Amino acid sequence: MKKKILILGGSSEAFQLDKALLESETLSAITSLAGRTSLPRKPIGPYRTGGFGGAEGMASYILENDIDALIDATHPFAAKISLNASKAAKRTGCPLLHIWREAWQQKEGDQWTLVDSIKAAAGILTPADSPVFLTIGRLELAAFLERTDINFIARAIEPAKSDDPSGKDAAFYPANFKFIYEKGPFSLNEERALMKTHKIRTLISKNSGGIAAYAKLTAARELGLKVFMINRPPKPEPGPGIDVVSNVEDALTWLTERGLIN
Ligand code: NAP
Repeated sequence: MKKKILILGGSSEAFQLDKALLESETLSAITSLAGRTSLPRKPIGPYRTGGFGGAEGMASYILENDIDALIDATHPFAAKISLNASKAAKRTGCPLLHIWREAWQQKEGDQWTLVDSIKAAAGILTPADSPVFLTIGRLELAAFLERTDINFIARAIEPAKSDDPSGKDAAFYPANFKFIYEKGPFSLNEERALMKTHKIRTLISKNSGGIAAYAKLTAARELGLKVFMINRPPKPEPGPGIDVVSNVEDALTWLTERGLIN
């Protein structure tokens, strides 16, 4: 009988891990996606879509499906699902590994201002920062609604769906918001061209880390743009049965050490 792991996905790490485990003779993996976007990057292996119904729902899923280990490979800003994973692991005794990728660090030439929330970024913008390029997704854009003195270019994967928590689509936003619907990753050339075309002065980004979304920061550095960098939610806490690593390679080592793969 193969052992089973549940990968909480929605990130490039989850995709890579699923791919690395496809040929395993000892382990089968199922990836879980939140279902936020209509055309997500689907794992090659089996997957399920939609919330579990909180930590309790996840714990039930783990027990009902005989999951031997849980890997939280969600985005660093997806704090709720990571917390639920820790709670579900404690409730069920299922070993849990959080993959917490390293945050981006400022380099020479960067002009970053670090802020703790999207709301805080909205509060400190000045008219001289306009036009502002928003790369924070579509769910939290309402934080900028009161800034009628600033022009925004907001990039999102797709228009809001009617069941989005924010429930707002482009039509809801005033004329100082322009929307671009595109799915990354974007190359340096693409990011540079977009920033030049829209005469962007300021970029607002979450500190997601990783390489897939980094080109915009290189382009901003090259063009001398100001960046408001949103700090991450707290790193998941390790504890009994709960470990934290920063990359897929270390996750594979963790699985090997537990005899789940060889
Ligand atoms: P979140 O705030 O941490 O989670 C909200 C709720 O969505 C969770 O309580 C859970 O519902 C459900 N959920 C989230 N991830 C799930 C998953 N992988 N499988 C099943 N249910 C999931 O998450 P979020 O920030 O909205 O992000 C949603 C997904 O998008 C995550 O999987 C994340 O990896 C990905 N993502 C997020 C960001 C970001 O900036 N936040 C960026 C890129 C990708 P229940 O409580 O009902 O289980």
